[in-house]
Order: sequence, then C-alpha cells, then structure tokens
Amino acid sequence: MRITSVTTHHDRTGFTYGAGESGVGGNLHLRAMDTLLVRVETDAGHHGWGEGFGFTLAETTKDAIDRLIGPACIGQDARDIAALTRMLARRFHNFGRNGPVTFGISAIDIALWDIRAKAAGVPLHALLGDAARPVVPAYASLLRYGRADDVARNVEEALRRGYRRIKLHEVDLGCIRAAHRAAPDVPLMLDINCAWDTEAEAIEFCEAVAGWNAAWVEEPVWPPEDIAAIARVRAASPVPIAAGECNGTVEDFCRMLEARAVDVAQPSVTKVGGVSALLEVAELARGMGVRLVPHCPYFGPGLLATLHVLAAVEEAEPIEIYFADLERAPYGPHLVPQGGAIALPTAPGLGFEPMLG
Ligand SMILES: [Mg+2]
Repeated sequence: MRITSVTTHHDRTGFTYGAGESGVGGNLHLRAMDTLLVRVETDAGHHGWGEGFGFTLAETTKDAIDRLIGPACIGQDARDIAALTRMLARRFHNFGRNGPVTFGISAIDIALWDIRAKAAGVPLHALLGDAARPVVPAYASLLRYGRADDVARNVEEALRRGYRRIKLHEVDLGCIRAAHRAAPDVPLMLDINCAWDTEAEAIEFCEAVAGWNAAWVEEPVWPPEDIAAIARVRAASPVPIAAGECNGTVEDFCRMLEARAVDVAQPSVTKVGGVSALLEVAELARGMGVRLVPHCPYFGPGLLATLHVLAAVEEAEPIEIYFADLERAPYGPHLVPQGGAIALPTAPGLGFEPMLG
C-alpha cells in the first residue's frame, strides 16, 4: 500500500470561551481556533487524517509538511508506520527534534494509524489495547481568564455541562481560590505553563494551593526542559507534578521519567510523534508507576486519536477538552462531551471524517 498524496488543510474558526471573559484568548492570546489537518492517500483506496500542532503555528507546520515531509512520503509503504516515521525523523533530524518538523511527522503518524485501522476494518482503539472503553470521561481545560469572577463563572458553567474535573491555566492565587470556592469537591489541575522563574517560587505556589483540592501542578518552572528543576520541585511539593507537553521526543520522556520528575506524564500526540510515540510513552510511564494524561487542547484528528488511546490503555484517565465553543468544529458535535464524557466512535479508523471549512 503506497502513499500517493499528502495534502494539508488549515482550518480556522471563531470561538467563544466563557461568559464575561476579560482576557484575549487566554494565555495563548488566541483570536481564532486554528487546526492543521493532514490527509494521506494511498493507492489501495484508503485515506487517513492526521493533525500537526497547532494554533497560531499552523501555517509554519503546514509549510514543513508541504515542502519537506509530504514529498518524502510519496511512494512509501503506508503499512510500515515505524519504518516511515523513522525515515522521516532521520532525514530531517537536524532541522529540529522539537518543533514544526516533529509536529508534521506526528500528523503523518496519526494519519497512518487511521489508515491501518480502516484497512483492518476496526476502530483505532481496537488495534491499540484491550481496555475497549466505550466512553472516556473528559476534563474541562479552561483558558486563562485572569479575573476571579470570570474564573468562578466558567467553573460553574463547566459543572453545569457535566464536567467533574477541571483544569485552570491561572497563576493568580485569588483566581484559583475562586475556582475552589465555586467547586470545592472538584479536583483542580493547575497549569502554570512555566510561569515561575525559580524553583522556590514554584514550591511556594504548590504549598499555597495544596489545601484547594489540587490534583496536580503542571509545568511549574521555566524552562520546560529543565528536568532536574522539575524533579526538585516534585520532591519538595505537597501536590503531584505534571509535565511533558513540550517534550519533542520519546527520549525526552525517558529522561523525565528516569529523573523521577513527574507524577503525571503529558505527551501531546500532535507534537511528540503521533500515536506511535504516545503508545511508547504510555508503556514507559506505566512501568514507572507514572500516570499518563495526554496533552490535547485541540479539536482535530489529534484529539480524536488521543481519545482512542485513552479508550485502549490499561489505566483509565480523562481526556483534556479545551473549554471553548467553536463556531464550526472540525468534527461538528461529535467530540463535544455529553455529561462530561465522550463516546468512542465505532466506525473503522479514527471513526469520524473532518468537515473542512
Ligand atoms: Mg499544559
């Protein structure tokens, strides 16, 4: 089964992210929700969809695929995913082992898994593991609002929509306390996005939030690759530590896990190498007694692929859902949680076809 074409589609839609919002698109300053969709076609009639990270970087990753990665895929055997992604990684390794090239290879990997499952006539999760969960619980990943009243209002809205786990991207303690008061029984994941410059600041923060039902503190220090610093924060913190969304390779996770830096590993399927890399990290994490809760605040095939992985792996964990209402989502209503959970598609492959704008 040979690859005959690789095409990229930059999908852009407007979005709202909560009543009374005071910021501009959260900490990423998003004005629109961008998704980079990648379609791989084969001479056997099967096609697959992948997604490369993402957001305002979509055009840059698209360029890496259009100019470098896509042309290198033409004529290659779509069935041997490991061989193809290894060839791509080696051919382009000196253009960066983290960033648009890796994100583009991730998209190809996801599309090839879609093709493999379609060719087998089964939903992707059936190829990945035995758990076969028909439904995966979701957690609401709120954008950063920066105002306590907006945080409380959106936490209440998330509860109203059925979520029972919430992530904040706030750094202000008043905002986090407001969330805890609005939902005292709900575990709060606290994503700092590397805001603290020193370990001391990070540890002080972890101690301050420990009484507020904090499930974990995420990416506590700058820079994200300072694994030793994360490990020292973890050793001193009363709250579990999560990280990994900025890792570009499985090897980065090896180092992170060997250093015992995290309680929760967070590979991002559209960044770290696709479904193949996610499965490798899952196995590594499981062996080390570390939770696997992937990073996936996006809306295309990357989110859908993550859903399949979480339905298949042994330990049940929730899927991240970015708390934003899209004017036109790539999969329409299919990946919008109902009652705080998402049902797995049953059709072969990823199970849904994206609707291009
Ligand atoms: Mg994060």
